[in-house]
Amino acid sequence: MKNWSNTYEYRAPRIVAPTTVDEVRRVVAEADRVRPLGSKHSFNGIADTTGTLVDMTALPVEVTIDEAAGTATVSGGTRYGVIAAALDAAGFALHNMGSLPHISVAGAVATGTHGSGVGLGNLSSAIRGLELVTADGDLRRVTADDPELAGSVVALGALGPAVRVTVAVEPRYLIRQDTYRGLPWDTMLGSFREVAGGAYSISVFTNWVEDEVEQLWVKRRVDSEDAQVDDRYFGAARDLEERPELVPGVTDNLTRRGVAVPWHFGLPHFRLDVPPSAGDEIQTEYFVAIDDAGAALSAVRALGDRIAPHLTVTELRTMAADGLWLSPASGRDSLAIHFTWRNHPDEVFALLPAIEEALAPFAPRPHWGKLNRVDPAGFATAYPRLGDQRELVLRHDPAGKFRNEYLDRVLGLGASEELPETSAPMGR
Ligand SMILES: Cc1cc2nc3c(=O)[nH]c(=O)nc-3n(C[C@H](O)[C@H](O)[C@H](O)COP(=O)(O)OP(=O)(O)OC[C@H]3O[C@@H](n4cnc5c(N)ncnc54)[C@H](O)[C@@H]3O)c2cc1C
Repeated sequence: MKNWSNTYEYRAPRIVAPTTVDEVRRVVAEADRVRPLGSKHSFNGIADTTGTLVDMTALPVEVTIDEAAGTATVSGGTRYGVIAAALDAAGFALHNMGSLPHISVAGAVATGTHGSGVGLGNLSSAIRGLELVTADGDLRRVTADDPELAGSVVALGALGPAVRVTVAVEPRYLIRQDTYRGLPWDTMLGSFREVAGGAYSISVFTNWVEDEVEQLWVKRRVDSEDAQVDDRYFGAARDLEERPELVPGVTDNLTRRGVAVPWHFGLPHFRLDVPPSAGDEIQTEYFVAIDDAGAALSAVRALGDRIAPHLTVTELRTMAADGLWLSPASGRDSLAIHFTWRNHPDEVFALLPAIEEALAPFAPRPHWGKLNRVDPAGFATAYPRLGDQRELVLRHDPAGKFRNEYLDRVLGLGASEELPETSAPMGR
């Protein structure tokens, strides 16, 4: 079985897809090695195991709203887009969404998945509680006032399957997206925080080599369906005609522009009812402090000629600091520098150290679910609370049932299992 993009082959000898929570508990209790699996949208071996993979997406959809608390408790294996539609129908909304609505809620928050917005935390920052299956197969609740919540949300699957997740909600709202073109690079470098913070949620797309960034996607929160917007944005011009393509040749996969739509149709880039692209891609992403944006972007841009031949697109997004130990935005307002690569694994694998060296002065944090070459010392430098996370994992899973080669490496836990060697760099 392969991941969504067909670029990582899971090596787990056994995959099960329980349809009840009790079945998840039984599988976990009986296994020596076991890992939760979401919608398979990660690009590396984070979810893999030498034992049993528990596909969480077959569990029934649950959405229970607690209006007084301002939260909804939802099934962890369900896709964001499905949860979002149910919340919207009940008059509620999430504060933000990732680019894809196809991704499972618990799988997304386990890796610190984010959307964009200078004032908006990542998706994990909205989590107010979790219900986890422990290594013994029991159910354990982690509530909002539990100090362990900070280490239990972006937990990389190391604390067991989350069968339910409690997320903060707010009244439903409208989003209008507009595309702008022609923002000079120098304007962006000189005033990144202002450009990125000029609307509710902004994404910048570039190929690194042109004098102007290719596109700005500006998502505004609006009060009415016919809200007017400016034709200029920091010197860039609103694109009144063209429908932007993110993946060359793939059309009709994007959410609507130029008109106000419910939040869950405007915040994601892609529509839930069609695949976002043909897959066959690799992704990489690094997070730096937003105050370092100008210097960090200049350092990567110096590599533009080496990056461009392997790149489909780069997207720049922002997020507010949070207090989750392994969140890529832990303790710092952040810029996320993302690369969607063509499926050129060897070339990309060879190029990543140069990008990581260019970003080294800014203590870059790699996206947990995407390809990188950062070594264990690099993770320890980038994540000051990594030691606390390691202790939490050892406390709740002393026998290492939920550990895998990836976790042992990034958390500095020492080898607990050996996966067979692979020629595919994505396995590392
Ligand atoms: C086309 C595309 C677009 C993307 N867009 C974005 C984006 O906008 N922003 C962003 O930040 N990332 C993005 N990603 C990355 C993606 O959000 C993350 O890799 C995310 O973790 C994938 O969720 P998943 O459900 O597929 O998890 P999987 O890849 O299946 O698993 C990821 C991790 O979550 C754990 N896990 C899964 N389910 C559970 C559970 N129920 N309980 C506990 N742990 C669990 C797994 O053990 C593993 O450690 C994108 C990926 C793709 C392919």
